[in-house]
Amino acid sequence: MKRAIYPGSFDPMTYGHLDIIKRAARNFDEVIVSVLDNKAKNPLFSVEERVKILEEATKDIPNVKIDSFSGLLIDYAKRIDVPVSVRGLRAITDFEYELQIAQTNSKLSHGKLDTVFFTASLEYSYLSSSGVKEIACFGGDLSECVPEFVAELLYAKYNQKR
Ligand code: ADP
Repeated sequence: MKRAIYPGSFDPMTYGHLDIIKRAARNFDEVIVSVLDNKAKNPLFSVEERVKILEEATKDIPNVKIDSFSGLLIDYAKRIDVPVSVRGLRAITDFEYELQIAQTNSKLSHGKLDTVFFTASLEYSYLSSSGVKEIACFGGDLSECVPEFVAELLYAKYNQKR
């Protein structure tokens, strides 16, 4: 069985992430989308909230599972016995960063964790979680960025903060 992890912050999940999830699910028997619990990033949504959003958005894709982890990806991948990490590439800036992470993970895992890249679909390549948060903060239109229930959660977060 071909299994892959799609790790990330997903703060929050956007249509760009969802597109990568769907495409990965067509290419692997099982895709484990896993939220990285990285307190240093000061996320807007808690890990539990991010997991719930991903669960709701992927509920109709049977071979996608949602999880979370902290610590090094290579340790998590070893623990759940998955040899492939999936990541998305939007632009050259992503490439530089992602290449370094992929090579570090390969080195640290002694070649046991490979990274597979999916290039962003044209209609989503401008999308980022930080951009989405900025739009939400000013009450802008998120209909092309995230599912409606995620937009509602974002507006609610920023209303709380006001
Ligand atoms: P990170 O894990 O680096 O904190 P994210 O959670 O936003 O960042 O993204 C997880 C992965 O999804 C990264 O590989 C990122 O490049 C990719 N990604 C983010 N947004 C998009 C998008 N719009 N299209 C394709 N891939 C994306």
